[in-house]
Amino acid sequence: MTYQIQEYPHLQFGTIYCIGRNYAKHIEEMKSEKTIDPVVFLKPRSSIIRNSEKVILPSISSNVHHEVELVALIGKETFQVTEDEALQSVHALSVGLDLTARDLQSEAKIAGLPWTLSKGLHSFAPLGNFIDYNTKCNIDVQNLNLSVSVNGNVRQSGNTSGMIFSLAEIISYLSTHFKLAPGDLIFTGTPEGVSQIHKGDKIVATIGDNLSTLEVDVD
Ligand code: MG
Repeated sequence: MTYQIQEYPHLQFGTIYCIGRNYAKHIEEMKSEKTIDPVVFLKPRSSIIRNSEKVILPSISSNVHHEVELVALIGKETFQVTEDEALQSVHALSVGLDLTARDLQSEAKIAGLPWTLSKGLHSFAPLGNFIDYNTKCNIDVQNLNLSVSVNGNVRQSGNTSGMIFSLAEIISYLSTHFKLAPGDLIFTGTPEGVSQIHKGDKIVATIGDNLSTLEVDVD
């Protein structure tokens, strides 16, 4: 398996940071609590698949959910940056799915155990095409529509303006604790509407009204 980023041959995928509980209505639907600092978890990079590859439903779960998210690709080493500096580290943006084995995650939450198994299984981080980003371009990362449909029916439809922690705040926060590297990815949380996917489903996700799109089938 290769971890080269096809659009950026000079970069390889690195660490996948994910933010949980970043949209108020998703916190409500999960009956979770808002947190003072961002909730951070990781996925292994082996969980990445790209457009047209297949999501593989694992035998250990009977309830896998889609979570559509804005994903940022980091382009340079980033350590202890301020919110004002943070977006200078973003190389590109994409739509992604933070696929989640909800049954395993619920068991882990009750037992006080990590989410890794429920979030990091093979094919659980599908990524769309990347859009070049720099702070001089006119993409407002905090005003991007995001949506996911399954078999043509819209399941989630939101806007990044609904984030509790902005992308700049997330990058600044992560960089106070971790040294971010070129190729690292940040999944920024999902709006409400998460629901189960099944074998044979066709998933289409977008951000920024088709700036980045993702199409994967579920096997
Ligand atoms: Mg998520």
